[in-house]
Amino acid sequence: MPAPVLLAVHAMATRFELVLHGDDAMRLRAAGEEALAEITRAEQLLSAYAPASDIGRINRDGAAGPVRVMAETCRVLRQCLGLARATHGAFDVTVGPLVRLWRAAGEVGVVPDAAAIAEARLLVGADQVIVDEDALTVALARPGVAIDLGAAGKGYAIDLAIGVLREHGVTSALLHGGTSSVHVIGHPPGDDAWPIGWDGPNGGIRLRDGALAVSAPHGRAFEVDGVSYGHVLDPATGEPVQQARGAGVTGPSSLVCDACSTALLVRGPSWLPEFRQRWPGYDGWTR
Ligand code: AMP
Ligand code: MG
Repeated sequence: MPAPVLLAVHAMATRFELVLHGDDAMRLRAAGEEALAEITRAEQLLSAYAPASDIGRINRDGAAGPVRVMAETCRVLRQCLGLARATHGAFDVTVGPLVRLWRAAGEVGVVPDAAAIAEARLLVGADQVIVDEDALTVALARPGVAIDLGAAGKGYAIDLAIGVLREHGVTSALLHGGTSSVHVIGHPPGDDAWPIGWDGPNGGIRLRDGALAVSAPHGRAFEVDGVSYGHVLDPATGEPVQQARGAGVTGPSSLVCDACSTALLVRGPSWLPEFRQRWPGYDGWTR
């Protein structure tokens, strides 16, 4: 059995790693490099931290008027705003003002007061972003509104990369971003599924042709007076999620898994029946 081809790229503040199995290492490597280049391209388009990206420009200029963007940006935003509505705002790419507030709070170690949280919450909601797919423009409803694709960008990028691998006829691959988003094609040689280890139910799952995304509140947390404040925010309260220790979602699209694992962490296990009904082919759990 030939050795697997291993490739990696750093993007979106995480490391993406790709494992490819097959007979023709040279073709696999070419396909893998093209796939990882899509991740870099997606980051350049969608990162809120790159001032020249479409999202960076929308966040800077969008409140003053419509900003011209790539058709792809309109499409991703439409999809994400749809997911925000479908999760009743538990996953919401307009959490930017809350993310900024809590990030600044973390830097000085002081919890924001109720008035500041209420003020930021007024800027959050899917109706704060106006996408015009005919004109290829995006506008923001008012100054201070900010888009943050932190909970879905990785998933979107992984879907793009997996699409490239499939176009190239790759039949056995695993791609993950920062271990929180995984997508596999087929199965590895000598096994009928990819074993994905983690400390969840049964110590992991077995994945075949599909995606897994996990969200944990305390990935990037800070502590004040013994209380830990995580990086996933509940848009309904404006505060970091506390109750669950983690949420995971499996299904065909990494973007949907990524968005819904964040939503599931926010909503908690009582949302699972509605989630399963709304997204056939997907499953999830909390712990
Ligand atoms: P994830 O690890 O996929 O759950 O994404 C968490 C990141 O998404 C955070 O670091 C924030 O940038 C952003 N975020 C936090 N809370 C939410 C939320 N409720 N909906 C959408 N994005 C969020
Ligand atoms: Mg997510």
